Amino acid sequence: MRTSFKRLFACCALLLAPNAWALNLFACEPEYAALAQELAPEARIFSATTALQDPHQIQARPSLIAQMRRADLAICAGAELEVGWLPMLQMKANNPKVRDGLPGMFYAAEQVDTLDRLDSVSRDMGDVHAEGNPHLHFSPQRLLRVAQVLTERLAQLDPTNAEHYRANFDDFSARWLTAIPVWEAKAAPLHGQAVIAYHSSFRYLFDWLGVEQAGDLEPKPGLPPSTAHLAGLLALTEQQTIMAVVHAGYQDRRGAQWLAQRAELPVVRLPFSTGQEGIDSLFALYDAVLEPLLAHVGE
Ligand SMILES: [Zn+2]
Repeated sequence: MRTSFKRLFACCALLLAPNAWALNLFACEPEYAALAQELAPEARIFSATTALQDPHQIQARPSLIAQMRRADLAICAGAELEVGWLPMLQMKANNPKVRDGLPGMFYAAEQVDTLDRLDSVSRDMGDVHAEGNPHLHFSPQRLLRVAQVLTERLAQLDPTNAEHYRANFDDFSARWLTAIPVWEAKAAPLHGQAVIAYHSSFRYLFDWLGVEQAGDLEPKPGLPPSTAHLAGLLALTEQQTIMAVVHAGYQDRRGAQWLAQRAELPVVRLPFSTGQEGIDSLFALYDAVLEPLLAHVGE
């Protein structure tokens, strides 16, 4: 008697709870899985990539296609970051919910002003992002704007739980807006520092904190560092004070090490996203990129 009563209670408690877990969310990159986790923690959230993979270069594997097929909402950076693999996934998954232009397909870059938009693109420019830099998750203000629009998208797709998503956004927003000035105060010594970095991966971080990227390890976007290009960067380090050579966790470190050794500079490897190395939230990610940079100020 007692057991069946307990069971009955369990059943009805389940019915009364918000059923937001009904949504299947497909994140192209872990930072958007982390954002989805803030807004819709009960949802089933899948990240197509990890922080240790290059989000420009992903294989449209069968496991990803299967996940895309069951998604109610796909959340991706956009601005052509996933142009090499997402259209293939969408086509093979054949899920009518996540077609471009429909509510189930969400591109973060479409919700904000991206940096470095190009009016025209030619092939000799390399693997550039014409719609601007898509690596916007290191811009705290842009990420907040993305969160706000994403909240309304969740509410649209799952109206029963609309107020639940909005309450989660308010909570995230409050914590995020409290954290921003703390990060800014902590990062103040980085203002005016110059680095050489790999790709424009940290463009928004540097823009936010007033760090100058004086050189890029890539001769052109998408091309690995060549010997001639590295020699040019070495010459640059003799003309300008450079704090460090910076690369993201997923990028090949050999070019950075070659240059750093010869120029006697530290190499700073920064995590590019959440989900690895104990970085379990966007807050932890921001902390984790500031610490190693601050360690080299004034060396
Ligand atoms: Zn890129």
